[in-house]
Amino acid sequence: MGDPALSLALSPLLQPLRFASRAGVARLNGLEALVAKVVEQARAYAGEASAPKLDRLAQSVRGFDSAGEADRQRSIAALVRELGALLPIPLDVSALARPVSEASGRLPGMAAQAPAAAPKAPADPLATPVIHLRGVGPALAAKLESRGLRTAGDLLLNFPRAYEDRRTPRTVEEAPLGERSVIAGQIVKAQEARGRRRRLEVLVRDAAGGTLVCIWFHYRQSFLQRFPLFAPVLVSGEVKEGYRGGGKVMHHPDVELLSASGEAAMPKEDDSFGRVVPVYTEVEGVPARTFRRIEKRAVDEYVRFVDDALPEAMRKRRRLLPLAEALREAHFPEKFAAELSRGVPGGEPRRRLAFEELFLVQLGLALRRRGVKVEPGIAFRAEARTLEGIVSALPWPLTSAQERAVGEIASDMRRPEPMNRLLQGDVGSGKTAVALCAARLAVADGYQAALMAPTEILAEQHARSLRSLLRGASIHVELVSGSLSQREREHAARLLRSGTAQIVVGTHALAEEATFFHKLGLVIIDEQHRFGVMTRASLMSKGHRPDVLVMTATPIPRTLALTLYGDLDVSVLDELPPGRTPIATRVFKDAAREKAYDVVRRELHAGRQAYVVLPLVEESEKLADLKAATRERDRLAMDVFAGVPIGLVHGRQGAAERNEEMERFRRGETRLLVATTVIEVGVDVPNATVMLIEHAERFGLSQLHQLRGRVGRGAARSYCLLITGASGAEWAPAARKRLRVMEETTDGFRIAEEDLELRGPGEFLGTRQSGLPDFAVAELARDQNILKEAREEAFALVQEDPELSKPENAAVKDQLLHRFRGRLSLARVG
Ligand code: ADP
Ligand code: MG
Repeated sequence: MGDPALSLALSPLLQPLRFASRAGVARLNGLEALVAKVVEQARAYAGEASAPKLDRLAQSVRGFDSAGEADRQRSIAALVRELGALLPIPLDVSALARPVSEASGRLPGMAAQAPAAAPKAPADPLATPVIHLRGVGPALAAKLESRGLRTAGDLLLNFPRAYEDRRTPRTVEEAPLGERSVIAGQIVKAQEARGRRRRLEVLVRDAAGGTLVCIWFHYRQSFLQRFPLFAPVLVSGEVKEGYRGGGKVMHHPDVELLSASGEAAMPKEDDSFGRVVPVYTEVEGVPARTFRRIEKRAVDEYVRFVDDALPEAMRKRRRLLPLAEALREAHFPEKFAAELSRGVPGGEPRRRLAFEELFLVQLGLALRRRGVKVEPGIAFRAEARTLEGIVSALPWPLTSAQERAVGEIASDMRRPEPMNRLLQGDVGSGKTAVALCAARLAVADGYQAALMAPTEILAEQHARSLRSLLRGASIHVELVSGSLSQREREHAARLLRSGTAQIVVGTHALAEEATFFHKLGLVIIDEQHRFGVMTRASLMSKGHRPDVLVMTATPIPRTLALTLYGDLDVSVLDELPPGRTPIATRVFKDAAREKAYDVVRRELHAGRQAYVVLPLVEESEKLADLKAATRERDRLAMDVFAGVPIGLVHGRQGAAERNEEMERFRRGETRLLVATTVIEVGVDVPNATVMLIEHAERFGLSQLHQLRGRVGRGAARSYCLLITGASGAEWAPAARKRLRVMEETTDGFRIAEEDLELRGPGEFLGTRQSGLPDFAVAELARDQNILKEAREEAFALVQEDPELSKPENAAVKDQLLHRFRGRLSLARVG
């Protein structure tokens, strides 16, 4: 069916349709605009034959938003039918294709009489609702569903978070200190104890008479009732030495009651004992054993319906398990029991599953790249002589990293295919100068260049640096900012439309509908992961297949870059301009903050300026943010830095007010600036040499690194002082250890790798913002090799069978379109 790249491009439409099938058409808003946008994007992948189909698709929802319910239903039915000619439609969505009159009051069996054009999907056993599983009633089903476990297939994809070797439980005596053990015994006492801290203690006695104290510090009152006296129980966790050397204890162990009534301590035939058992993330209100039993049932009855998407030849080549076996082993290991129980993270079963996941993403990227490269864009002249002139007009020679990047960009721009390049460089590596060179190449050919930044402050900063880098050159840089008056804005709009504005800098306002360019040839996007796909796409649509340069200061680890930007070319600025002194970073306990203040005082005394940064509690809690920031400013002014003029920027200020504050600081009227993280990507004040960050443990390392890049902009030695939360908190040592990385290195890439390992990719970039697909199995930080293999296979496959039309690739194509349901196409850039 159709071209897979085209299907993928259209797949974002499935999401709203799913929603409509659940919630009804009345609550669906903005569909017309969405369809128009998706269709527009998809045109790049449509051959001649599909172009009219795309037209009909857009046509089918004309006027949808203002239509009544019946018309909406008809519209949707038409949309689904048209869509069905272009990509496989999931069962729940295909039901929408039925005409209104038939949609209600019919017996289920009669749905088969739906119009011939309606897409049919075979009933998929994996879509069986959990309630149909034996042993799952309505109450249990509701609990599972609340965790997103709706179908048998969902259960199969809900992997254990750990395994536990229960083939041979240990006695308390046998269990070594400092190691995880499973101990079987009987509850002989359960009580709350008050000592230094409130805690729950449960005493377990094993068959040999040894006793173990299980201790909980965090628990709800109702938790107590989970421990009936004399119930046989299995506990597992790390065995530690008790308080004051008394006996053995476990803190917060996993507990499993063998049976509430107390008979049969170790039943032979049970999924929970005598084997290596899976430990699942707990579902509230479902006992671990019950949950495991449900998983077992799902695996036993449904794993055989799983299609193996990977072609057999590939599986052999990469020594991958068949999918059904991988799933079975991942849940209830037998063949790999020993391997998994030793804590090998998932072993072979997991490798197979992660491979498939990464392979499908890479396959999507490979298909897309093919799509991007086919239709011609602009071939700039970008002559060597022109480039030389541009570079030599800069106030300093380029670093060799900048030179390399500019060379790569120029050669991309010369080619007729649209450039799609990521410029990745640490804070202060000089991306702006590179961007300027690219922009001037476009301008030299009579095109406009647009630079889109995520914040007002940053847009202004860019405009200012571009103008200063351009010095005498007669090139018009226009700033389109939200703080312009109506008249100024109209004036700017005229300059853009007439082409007078040659380089245009702005925020997402540039991508808005009302913005028109005369001849947009180059789109530069700064800090790209902060923009939604739609914003980027809509800016690009203002030119005719313009070249795109994405700049990011977040040093994205190679693994992640490959997955996120698999279809982008990458230039890296791995060298700082000369004349920088490294920033000295130190972590301070809250109790030692006076020492940190001394550093600040010394710098202020020497005529320098300083930042004090506070964490922004929550985007939604701007008021609290304001209060905290104001309070801190007052405190510093009264008690700590008396007599020093202190400025304040926070998320509650409007752009104009914030700019005014920033200006004052830049001019040196305020010497110290208290700020929430709004300064993260904005300011360039060379005289500021010290940054003090409160609650540093609440920041990601990469974020701290970005912040730190705001000092050390001049030649003077600079300082970054990290204060960790209130003293004495339990996590403080761990947090400080993590922050030590900041003391040890200024290498943004190392910091990013560390961050990725600690927090996972979702948090690293913010899944929602980045559109990063969340993987069920793969972990980018440690699956580099799997990713590499998967990528090779994916690109080779597309090379060999670009339409995925060979029979051996049918399953993988199907999987690609179903499994990712439109998420995948959102993972791309531009
Ligand atoms: P980034 O955007 O990558 O964080 P910028 O483009 O803001 O970095 O550059 C940081 C600072 O370095 C700016 O003040 C800029 O003028 C300066 N700079 C950039 N390239 C060079 C160079 N080749 N030689 C000297 N200074 C440079
Ligand atoms: Mg910059």
